[in-house]
Amino acid sequence: MMPKVMSKSWNSYWLKNYLLDLLFPKYCIICQKIGWNYLCLECLSKVRIERNIHCPDFRCKRIVRFGNYCIQHRRKSKALTGVLSLSNYKNRVTKELIHYLKYEGVKELVGEINKLDLSKIKEQIITKNSVLIPVPLFRRRENNRGYNQSLEIARIFSESFKLPIENGIIRRSRNTKSQMQIEQDSDRVKNIKNAFGINDRCAHKLKNKTVYLVDDVMTSGATLQELAKTLKQLKYPPRRIYGLVLAKR
Ligand SMILES: [Zn+2]
Ligand SMILES: [Zn+2]
Repeated sequence: MMPKVMSKSWNSYWLKNYLLDLLFPKYCIICQKIGWNYLCLECLSKVRIERNIHCPDFRCKRIVRFGNYCIQHRRKSKALTGVLSLSNYKNRVTKELIHYLKYEGVKELVGEINKLDLSKIKEQIITKNSVLIPVPLFRRRENNRGYNQSLEIARIFSESFKLPIENGIIRRSRNTKSQMQIEQDSDRVKNIKNAFGINDRCAHKLKNKTVYLVDDVMTSGATLQELAKTLKQLKYPPRRIYGLVLAKR
């Protein structure tokens, strides 16, 4: 049986949320239907989960294991071993979900990711000796938003895949323009170059690990490559570095 104190606080928590929902009903971000969540079940079911894992290189259709780059593209990818993506940015619900999470401050939407079928991606995750690292935001941007969406997403993955989060090792040392607003691939590489710094005191923690860099969306992969490059320069670098994202463009 639940202890008395716990059940009392749980009841008041539930009551508070119930009253808040009555006073401020939620609207589904897609169909505007009033309900209990910012994404109704019907719209949530329209998120298309990637059934096959493809080589992360742009437009490469080869099916791969663990999200690894295929043989042809392996050499082109400098520091990143591969990328796992849950969905595709072309899917309207996925796109809106990320947009509201990233630009409209609807942090609660992150809970909806937990309701999606994560089993396909879970099969491809290397769990032994692995850690999740959320892609850091520049401090000022995080303060403005109130949270880092990548960390929130990492929390969901951490729970589902039973992997620890290492959030103190990398920081963003300067502010950069959003990669999604940049047209040319070469400009994206320039935009993110040397944007990350390492906290040397804890960097040894990544020695021989498999690192999953968690982000909301991968555009050209320039951010993930830059971060991976930074980690590869460590005295005790990780063994493999993957991207783990909600969607690929
Ligand atoms: Zn809806
Ligand atoms: Zn390929």
